[in-house]
Amino acid sequence: MEIKYFDNAATTRIKEEVFREMVPYLTNQYGNASSIYKIGRDSRRAIEQARGRVASLFNSDPSEIYFTSCGSESDNMALKGMAYLQKEKGTGKDHIITSKIEHPAILESCKTLEKQGFRVTYLDVDKEGVVDLNSLENAIDEKTFLISIMYANNEIGTIEPIEQISKIAHNHNIIFHTDAVQATGNVDIDVKKLNIDILSMSGHKIYAPKGIGAIYIRKGIEINRFMDGGHQEKNKRAGTENVAEIVGLGKACELAEKNLKSYQKKLLFLKEYFIKRLTENFQDFIINGSLENRLPGNCNICFKNIDSNELLFKLDAVRNMCIWRFCLFFWR
Ligand SMILES: *Cc1c(COP(=O)(O)O)cnc(C)c1O
Repeated sequence: MEIKYFDNAATTRIKEEVFREMVPYLTNQYGNASSIYKIGRDSRRAIEQARGRVASLFNSDPSEIYFTSCGSESDNMALKGMAYLQKEKGTGKDHIITSKIEHPAILESCKTLEKQGFRVTYLDVDKEGVVDLNSLENAIDEKTFLISIMYANNEIGTIEPIEQISKIAHNHNIIFHTDAVQATGNVDIDVKKLNIDILSMSGHKIYAPKGIGAIYIRKGIEINRFMDGGHQEKNKRAGTENVAEIVGLGKACELAEKNLKSYQKKLLFLKEYFIKRLTENFQDFIINGSLENRLPGNCNICFKNIDSNELLFKLDAVRNMCIWRFCLFFWR
């Protein structure tokens, strides 16, 4: 049976080209990248090529990219790494600003930090899911060290005003982190132009495998080590490098950069077609989120008087495993 899979916000299928590049590093090329003999150096070379490809996608320098095990780890590292740095340095700063619609990797990290004595402000968003810049300004105090706002939301696809948020952060000498897991590969992200200090991304949302991610940390920004152990990733992230997955992530980033324009065009076309067909066949539905500032492939809909889980189940069972997230998440 053919599967119609629409839930690329949850995860994507590995691209054939990505998988093919990974295979040697899952079989014959098994060297530890820290070993100085040839089979190790080959792994090191592959990792550094991948780092260059990830860096290029965000218009950053390869030295600013660190591999992690997933988007969640990158988010944890950004928040906890910055928070623990404040404690270690005795800066006296203890305040983080984020939004109420962040991914659990951010929200739960914030809760943990609150238990450890840090203060967190969770900003409201408007009915389209956009963070209010005035509330952001008002939330800042002299002890704020980090603002973490997602680039684009994973449920309703709203793209946040990243450039303005970053400006506000820097006007107050605050570090700006963005969870760009959903935005990566879907919109053009230029960390230089947008003045982003720290950015999280993940492989499995952009046609690379699950269990690989990266974090961009702008040159010169100090952050505490979050995973203790060996000195990998310039002493920022311990653990023998997952060479095959890193290679896969690199390839996926290269493809994302090369195909961005045509991919966006395709997604927009499919979305318009989907909405057109829905309009022809149903009356009572509402599209949630912003219509302009939105990820090209995201569609989030409320149907009146239908439970979202029930609908999901029926689509899965009745329509040849046709899966879609009809999310009532943001209905207010
Ligand atoms: C999927 C996702 C994550 C988590 O990434 P993992 O690699 O699955 O840990 C974090 N933030 C957002 C916005 C996501 O969509």
